[in-house]
Amino acid sequence: MKPTMTQVQTRPAAELLVAEPSPKQDLWDTVVGTLDEAAARLNLDPGIHAILREPERELIVSVPVVHDDGSIRVYKGYRVQHSSARGPCKGGIRYHPDVNLNEVKALAAMMTWKCAVVGIPYGGAKGGIQVDPTGMSQREIERMTRRFTAMILPILGPKRDIPAPDVNTNPQVMAWIADTVSMLGGAAIPEIVTGKPINMGGSRGRKEATGRGGAIVTGELLKQMGRALTETSVAVQGYGNVGSYAARILRSMGCKIVAVSDVSGGLYNPHGLDLDAIDRAVADHPKRLLAGYTAGDVDRINNEELLTCDVDVLIPAALEHQIRADNADRIRARYIVEGANGPTTREADAILESRGVVVVPDILANAGGVVVSYLEWVQDLQNFFWEEEEVNQQLSNIMVRSFREVWGYAEAQEVPMRLGALMLAVDKVAEAVRSRGIWP
Ligand code: NAD
Repeated sequence: MKPTMTQVQTRPAAELLVAEPSPKQDLWDTVVGTLDEAAARLNLDPGIHAILREPERELIVSVPVVHDDGSIRVYKGYRVQHSSARGPCKGGIRYHPDVNLNEVKALAAMMTWKCAVVGIPYGGAKGGIQVDPTGMSQREIERMTRRFTAMILPILGPKRDIPAPDVNTNPQVMAWIADTVSMLGGAAIPEIVTGKPINMGGSRGRKEATGRGGAIVTGELLKQMGRALTETSVAVQGYGNVGSYAARILRSMGCKIVAVSDVSGGLYNPHGLDLDAIDRAVADHPKRLLAGYTAGDVDRINNEELLTCDVDVLIPAALEHQIRADNADRIRARYIVEGANGPTTREADAILESRGVVVVPDILANAGGVVVSYLEWVQDLQNFFWEEEEVNQQLSNIMVRSFREVWGYAEAQEVPMRLGALMLAVDKVAEAVRSRGIWP
């Protein structure tokens, strides 16, 4: 039987503030359900609809790893390519105990929509290993990464499928992937992966990009609402890559960050959190968790309390299905900006809509990462690297343009932003499928 989060993660008492694992709902059902809704609204050709309902390729691999104690454990790995209609497949690699085929399929499809909605020339993919890497040594993670890379290599390639970081993977993991492919290929092939360290072909601005993109669309949303950034309070669930940069950048834009959380629980101060002190404490904590923050100027809250705290903007930036039918009617934020992929269930979405909560959907709100991944790939292919200001400016142009396009489209179609963004994306992918035709 697959271990649950609580079984595999043995954590010190200070970290036991974690919300109960979300009741398991199938993200793939959510993704197909929303695609069907968009297809019906678009009056999509049934043949093209049928193509988009299935990934192009699903690869399942077994990944044996020699652990430091000499034991061999075998993990299950996945790479799914949902669509290459608009360009090479693109999507992250996740190391997490909950990774499974349907989740990877769903996340791959979401990458297809995401790349289409922001107009970058990629299709969608996703990969992952069903593993809890938090207790593993760096050597073990390196061996696992290299073996996994070799196992999925037949379907990777700079013009085929380009991985990137996701939950529990980072620039170091991307460096091992690029090195493995380069060693096996006998040539430097850094463009096989994005989110690499800058010293081996990574882009300036990539690590902050998803959070920055989320902050940019939050700014655009507040502008549409006629609301001043300086009068806006924000709560962020998931103080990892996406959440922590979104929080810092929104603070620099004038917002007040009143609550943040991670797997070890949350911190709340209605007058605004001292993010610099929090970042120092997280950096000093052996597992880089908020549990390391021991100052007395905050209330300790759990993740459920974070989601329902009294703020203007809520940014779920942890994992999927955090906002569900059982808590959606207690959410007090008027605006939700989805930093994570799929943080809201379909039932919760309907509840939020009926309550007038405006949701900027994941495929738009967290697209900043793949936008700068695209900019990294472009820089790698031309072997010419840009200053950070240029990267940030291009990111900002694309995010602002995409937000306004989705906003205008959703208004014109009289649908919520989530459905509007998806309809726009599905339409663009369908157009590419039509242009290319069905081979042979
Ligand atoms: P990360 O591993 O850096 O951060 C995840 C954070 O969520 C950590 O702080 C973790 O402690 C916290 N967390 C995990 N379970 C939690 C729970 N039950 N309650 C509260 N906090 C919890 O991962 P990330 O890269 O920041 O990704 C976060 C989300 O954003 C994922 O859904 C990912 O798919 C999505 N995303 C990431 C990127 C990117 O560029 N990193 C791009 C697009 C989307």
